[in-house]
Amino acid sequence: MKAEKEELVNHYKRTGMIKDSLNLESFLNVPREEFLPPKFRNKAYVDRPFPLFSTGQTISAPHMCLLILEYLNLESGFHVLEIGAGSGYQAALIAERLRLAEKPKKIEVSSRVWSIELVPELVRFAQENIKRTDYDDVVAIIKGDGTLGLSEKAPFDRIILTAAGPRIPPPLIEQLKPGGKLCMPLGGERMWQSMILISKDENGKLTQETLASVAFVPLRGKYGV
Ligand code: SAH
Repeated sequence: MKAEKEELVNHYKRTGMIKDSLNLESFLNVPREEFLPPKFRNKAYVDRPFPLFSTGQTISAPHMCLLILEYLNLESGFHVLEIGAGSGYQAALIAERLRLAEKPKKIEVSSRVWSIELVPELVRFAQENIKRTDYDDVVAIIKGDGTLGLSEKAPFDRIILTAAGPRIPPPLIEQLKPGGKLCMPLGGERMWQSMILISKDENGKLTQETLASVAFVPLRGKYGV
């Protein structure tokens, strides 16, 4: 499995798809097999999404998870909110990247990741996976409707949605720090959707960029599909 993982990293480097070496290092450090249902564990480094039991939800493909890390441009000390914990894999990658950013500065780990999940079975699955892989000092998996955000922990430096919605949930815009960024697949149930990046400047002014065409499961909840 190690060889397959390294082969994927070489491919991402060769194609120039992933430029941040700490993002690639995070991928090498996080065991994707620990976030997959048992029957897919031997395929952990096949670059495709896999179903999460019979929930209708999926763990995204490695290249998509890494592209999300590139879009987020993470720095040490960041507070990150994820909507759609699923397996917990993306949250673990974000946590690992934040840890790597903190290491050279020899500071106490102050970065935090909160990941909200709607499906109770997946809340448990993600919690177990995060604990088993020792990311529970940085990551908290929370049950609820992520379109409402997490006002008690706001504001956030980065917000990522890993499910596709028809519009940006207004509470998430409110809970984004000035200078912060929000990344989400915009569209809804039809393939494809556009991955967009919203930046909030110091005066609260928003700008929007379109990054890529993507295929995500639908965002549910109050501001979902
Ligand atoms: N990031 C995940 C993949 C997520 S798939 C991983 O790394 O494995 C998208 C997830 O979003 C699904 O688990 C789905 O249940 C969840 N979801 C959809 N709408 C939601 C909402 N409003 N609040 C929280 N989770 C939601």
